[in-house]
Amino acid sequence: MKNLVCALFMFSLFMTGCSQYEHRISTKSSSNKSTGNYVGSVPLKLYTFNCGNIEVSDFDAFSSNGDYAGQGGKLVNTCYLIRHPEGDLIWDLGLPHSLVGSEPQIDGIFTVSLKSPLTDLLEKIDLTVTDIEFMSISHSHFDHTGQASLFSDVEWLVHEDELEHMFSTDESKAQNIAFVGLNKTTFSENYDVFGDGSVVILEMPGHTPGHTALQVNLFESGPILLTGDLYHRAESRKLQRVPRFNTNESQTRGSMIAFERLATELGARVIIQHEAIDVARLPKPPRFLK
Ligand SMILES: [Zn+2]
Repeated sequence: MKNLVCALFMFSLFMTGCSQYEHRISTKSSSNKSTGNYVGSVPLKLYTFNCGNIEVSDFDAFSSNGDYAGQGGKLVNTCYLIRHPEGDLIWDLGLPHSLVGSEPQIDGIFTVSLKSPLTDLLEKIDLTVTDIEFMSISHSHFDHTGQASLFSDVEWLVHEDELEHMFSTDESKAQNIAFVGLNKTTFSENYDVFGDGSVVILEMPGHTPGHTALQVNLFESGPILLTGDLYHRAESRKLQRVPRFNTNESQTRGSMIAFERLATELGARVIIQHEAIDVARLPKPPRFLK
């Protein structure tokens, strides 16, 4: 297990190369680009799942500025389910479910643990993985892809640059093998999941080549923006800090500007997916935001 976790960390955090990948599965490309219109009239439900915990002994890697050196702390790791009348979308896939039942795994600055797999978390709201029509990940780092093998029957919505990144080397191909058998829809720019502006995957590149965030326009709670890993914690957003493990810093800074502009335009509630303070304010299943 430890070797597996180590390998995942190394590949995920520091792999930035790109080359040709093989098309081995059926692919359709979509031009379902969002107009950016705010539509809050669809009766959506947004569930938040605990998909693991990450203790960090030294946050230095999380700021290229060098100002986090020596700081320790915790990150929560979250997955989300958006229920739409036309289907269900899982956003991010957490830490590897093989961690369940194990002692916390230590690798360098990280200690990771997971209490329950997504199968159990879905079961608590009377769903199984086969009920889920759509799946998307903010990006392909280990803590967002760990339970992909549980979802064999979903349509994977993936930015074409992230797809290329995920299958660019033999190592990354091996790491992402669980995604190979999935049907997928690829997109560039933004992607309007249900075609009504209610759930929009936002192109926010830089952390990885095809990194994305998610806009969810809730009827009662208003627009929500899930950050992916554009920011890892509140301090990162406030200070606009970019991690050292990042594909393209200037691209990330451009995404931060675009994200903040959109958040202001929408008056959106921003959820930093690894930030315990943000996550603690969200309802725990079976409760949800609507
Ligand atoms: Zn992450």
